[in-house]
Amino acid sequence: MTDFVVIGGGIAGVSAAAHLAPHGSVTLVEMESALAYHTTGRSAALFVVNYGAQGSRPLGLASRAFLENPPEGSTDAPLVTPRGLLWTADETQMPGLVKIAAEGEESGAGSRLISPNEILGLVPVLNPDHIAGGLFEPSAQDIDVAALQQAFVRIARMHDAEIRTQSAVTAIERKGSGWIVKAGGDTLTCGSIVNASGAWGDRVAALANIESIGLDPMRRTAFMVPGNQGYARWPMVVDADQRFYFKPDGVQLLCSLAEEEPSEPTDAKPRMEDVALAIELINEATTLGIRSVNSQWTGLRTFSPDRDLVIGEEPTAPGFFWLVGQGGTGIQTSPAYGALLASQVIGTEIPEFLAEAGVDPSTTDPGRFRG
Ligand SMILES: Cc1cc2nc3c(=O)[nH]c(=O)nc-3n(C[C@H](O)[C@H](O)[C@H](O)COP(=O)(O)OP(=O)(O)OC[C@H]3O[C@@H](n4cnc5c(N)ncnc54)[C@H](O)[C@@H]3O)c2cc1C
Repeated sequence: MTDFVVIGGGIAGVSAAAHLAPHGSVTLVEMESALAYHTTGRSAALFVVNYGAQGSRPLGLASRAFLENPPEGSTDAPLVTPRGLLWTADETQMPGLVKIAAEGEESGAGSRLISPNEILGLVPVLNPDHIAGGLFEPSAQDIDVAALQQAFVRIARMHDAEIRTQSAVTAIERKGSGWIVKAGGDTLTCGSIVNASGAWGDRVAALANIESIGLDPMRRTAFMVPGNQGYARWPMVVDADQRFYFKPDGVQLLCSLAEEEPSEPTDAKPRMEDVALAIELINEATTLGIRSVNSQWTGLRTFSPDRDLVIGEEPTAPGFFWLVGQGGTGIQTSPAYGALLASQVIGTEIPEFLAEAGVDPSTTDPGRFRG
């Protein structure tokens, strides 16, 4: 018998395990042979406040303290390093840029509109013919995703959590006030379940005869092209209509078409045409002249119907908790949503640091999708 079974070993699952382990016994089950094999290992690794559904943005703000000052003993490397984010717009995109600026102000991003001259000072390779204005968020940071994932694993293990890979959950049944979970050929009995299975969230719920949320896994492809040390200080550059983005990553540039295309939950693979279109758009907007690709990958960003996260107990199934729908912000919000989820599972007040950052659990409550 274990108190909590966490399903999924991406960033959501390990954050849940780290936050629950001080309060009881935890078994995390992951179907793949390695943690973070799916979306978590395929992100652009950025922390940016002015991004994602408005209701979930306070989760990003509330995560900053953990990312900048991780708990003692959880990591040997810094989890974040300065980057900055620059939205760029041509003349036709200026109304959209002004809207993004207003959203940034509402969410406390500390971003400011800047002139074409300032933009070219930050990223000299941008094509001046395509630049009418920009919005700069200097506090955006690169996240070391592997170190963050490992920090949660370390915290969970410090509190004796058990982490099992190659343990696909294949059946979930009610037993009294708890649950029986079949995973990797074993049978686990537990008090509460946390469904942190990302794109598979609705399928895992179906195993317990729980109605789906209506999660939409969406493809997004990223790729690395050759760069050089001279690029290292550029901020991430994002087109105001999100037609592409790029950012330095060591001596390479990480690029994306920033596409959103529906997919089944699966091990998504890149398509040559998406990479080619991204290169065409980036070459048009810059003097980079990209001609070759070092590596490429595709991940599934999974959204709820209103695009806010889904965190909390399923109203029709006591003891079954959702932690899904992280969309494009599941890395940067992970410290805060793990803390919120844990407070709900153990039945305590929302932690003060979340309330202070403006986190409102009703915006992420699964009950909003239940009539
Ligand atoms: C190109 C791209 C760029 C991104 N950029 C950013 C960014 O800059 N910043 C940011 O914050 N976020 C970003 N994201 C989003 C972020 O990566 C996701 O929100 C986050 O990784 C979701 O984590 P997760 O744990 O929910 O999902 P996953 O990492 O997919 O984990 C779910 C896990 O559940 C497991 N699982 C499923 N079914 C079962 C089962 N039956 N039994 C056992 N295990 C199961 C899966 O194997 C998987 O490991 C980006 C995503 C992409 C694709």
